[in-house]
Formats: sequence, structure tokens, C-alpha cells
Amino acid sequence: MTKSQPRRPPSIDALARSLEVDLPNALRVDAARAAVAAGEPERVEHYARLIERLLLQPVVNATGVLLHTNLGRAPLPVSVGALATNLELDLASGQRGDRCAGINRIMSTLCAAERTIVVNNGAAAVLLSLAALASGAEVAVSRGESVEIGGGFRVPDVAAQSGARLVDVGTTNRTNLNDYLNALRRPQANVACVLKVHPSNFRLEGFVASTPTRELASLPIPVIVDLGSGLVDAACPWLQGGPPGWLIGEPAARQTLADGAALVTFSCDKLLGGPQAGIIAGRADLVDRCARHPLARALRPGSLILETLQSVLLAYLNRDLSSLPFWQMVTVDRPVLEQRAAHIIDDIGQGRSAPVKAVPSEALIGAGSAPGKTLPSIALEVAGDHRRQLRDHYPPVIARVDGGTTLVDLRTVHPDEDAHIVTALGTVREATASEDLGHP
Ligand SMILES: *Cc1c(COP(=O)(O)O)cnc(C)c1O
Repeated sequence: MTKSQPRRPPSIDALARSLEVDLPNALRVDAARAAVAAGEPERVEHYARLIERLLLQPVVNATGVLLHTNLGRAPLPVSVGALATNLELDLASGQRGDRCAGINRIMSTLCAAERTIVVNNGAAAVLLSLAALASGAEVAVSRGESVEIGGGFRVPDVAAQSGARLVDVGTTNRTNLNDYLNALRRPQANVACVLKVHPSNFRLEGFVASTPTRELASLPIPVIVDLGSGLVDAACPWLQGGPPGWLIGEPAARQTLADGAALVTFSCDKLLGGPQAGIIAGRADLVDRCARHPLARALRPGSLILETLQSVLLAYLNRDLSSLPFWQMVTVDRPVLEQRAAHIIDDIGQGRSAPVKAVPSEALIGAGSAPGKTLPSIALEVAGDHRRQLRDHYPPVIARVDGGTTLVDLRTVHPDEDAHIVTALGTVREATASEDLGHP
């Protein structure tokens, strides 16, 4: 660059071209403009990185929370399909088809549901089933289940949005079948269905009782059970050793339908281990009412989601654990994590100042599932809070801090990502001496 005109602001184009980030030119130009406007053209790289940081990108989940809502919940085996699919084409007849036909078929095998539809998330599944079954009428909900799930999902609010009037049943800690019967026998009662909500993110203890689905099924109106977490079968036939201990008490779709629920609703990105979506499954006539409701169109997912969900459900039927990363992370034994930790420490190398050591840790299921239950894990521990440096690595490594030390929990890290942990922790140790952002 010439030095003859030092005061002239640098050309936006030249600045944009000087950038080494992998961004389209229009965004490099935005970064250059922002840097010049702020009077610091020499920091243009920094402005470009701010834009880069906004984009969705792969990160390494080293938090020890298996279903981390900030990280997209369940780890996904992404399968990008062809350019076109038979999304709504019935290949047998050549006529317009049903976009949920395949998933319908698989779900009837997986959890013995007569019919299934897929919507955008668990909240949409509850909203649509209430709108279809109880709009303009009443829905009976136990006071102990009139809960907030988090992120703005409150049962009374969702009921109100569906057009159903909530009828509170029983007490906060105890609700029995008679309480429901009394709600149905009120003068002018107009109760169209019962909603039973799984308290997935908290526990009531002590003098408590709720009415099991099997008893509710004796009522003369349909029972909708919002399972939330999406365990499809309590027997976990896709796991060689059967269900792990922490799953005991977690309601499952197959068993809840067998107990007489008319409909179950659940998320696909919690214990199911799939993409963000929601399922309504159960009695064919009621699922059809949901499918015909005008809201169904507004809440339906696209082919990318349906394809990914379908491949996850097929993996369940094939008992193919390698295609179910969530269940792989759940079932890996601690000694395997210990071995991986030892390799990572070896690869980082020795003789540097900030030591990394392997320590026992407790991983969480997360996303409100199995509250209070932990899985034994192994974490790599470094003194001090290095979360920021680890996020600055490429790909970002998301760690947690506990009592002033940084913990990189290996249970939530896929073995293929161990190499990233090596370079990221290497960067942490060097970062005091340089401003290296850790980009390779
Ligand atoms: C998570 C959850 C929901 C909401 O599901 P999203 O997929 O997050 O919309 C609703 N009900 C229960 C019981 C849940 O656990």
C-alpha cells in the first residue's frame, strides 16, 4: 500500500478484499463499512468475525448436558437428501399424498399408534390437539399439572390460545379420578377432553398423587397426554441392555397409548433424539381431526425435517445405535470416556504451564428431561474460566465452569470431535502469550 496519502480512509472494497474470513463479498463489505464507520479500519477482521459469529455453525458440546437447548437439543445425524422428494406425492397412485404417511407407518410399528401427524414442535402438538378437540369447550387439567415448561410454554396460556377453557381439577399436590368426575358433573359442564401433562422439568415430592392414565381412560371423554420428552417405548428395544436406570418412571408413548390415552404429544428433539418437531399420535379419528384443523397447515414441518425424522425413526426400528447419536452418548461407559481423556491429554503434550487433567463429572440429560438424574462422566479440567477462549476456537467448544475451573465434559462430545478438543485446549494454554483466535 502506498504511504503517500496516509490520512485518506481506506477503500471499502480493498478492506473487504483483504479479509481472510469465509463470507460472501456482500457481508465482507458490510464488515468493512462497519469498521470504517467506527473509525477503526485496522480492526476490519474483528468486524467480519462478529458477522461470522451470527451464522449457524457446528460447535462442540462439551457442557455435559446431553440435550442442551442453546445447542439445538438432541445431536442430529444430519442427512441432506435429494433435490426433490415425494413429500406429498403418493407414488403408488400418482395422486396427491400425505406428507406424514411414512412416519405414520413407522410410528404404528414403533409405538402402536393408529395414526400420527408431525408438527413444528411439542408446543405446537399440544396447541393443535387442544384446538381440534376442545376449542369452544372445556379442557380438564389437574392443578398439579397446570405448569410452565420453560421458554414461555405455560399450560393455561396454550389452552387459552387453542380456544379451550381450562377447568382446574384437584389440588396442587393431589388429584384423583373423583376430582375429574366432579369436573365433568358440574352444572353446565362442557368438558371435551382431559389434558394430562408430564411434569418433565420438576419433581413434586412428599404427600403427592396424580391420576394415572389407565384410570383416566375410564372417563367418557378422550385423554390427551403431553409426554414432553418423547421416549417412544419404555422397554428401549434399541438398547442392548434394556432401559438405563435413570429412565425409570419416564412415561413412554407406546405404554401410554396402551394404557388408554386417546392421543399422546411429544417433542422430537428430546429423548427421541431427532430434529425439532412435535408428534401427535393415537386414535385415527382424533388425529384426523387435528390434521383437518386450519392450524395444521400453519404448524406443519417441511421435507428436510420430515426426512431427518424418518431416518431417526428407521434407526430405532433397525436398532442402529450408530445412527442415534443421543442414545450413543447416553450409553457410552465411563471407562471409554477415561481412555479418550487420556488420549486427548497425551495429544495436547506435556511440559506446558496450564495443566489439563481428567476428573470424574456428572452429565445431565437436559431439556427438562429426567430432572435431577445424572450420568457418570469424565471431564477435562483446567484451572480458571476459559469458556471465552474455547468459544473463540474454530469450531467453538462450549464448556462449563464449576467452582472456578473449566470443565470439558466428554460424554456430550462425539469421539470424532476429540481432535477439536485437543486443539482447543492447546489454544487455551497458549492464549496468554498470543492473541491467536484458534482458527486453523
Ligand atoms: C418440552 C415440553 C413441551 C414443549 O415442547 P417443545 O418441543 O419444546 O415445543 C411441552 N410439554 C412438555 C411436558 C415438555 O416437556
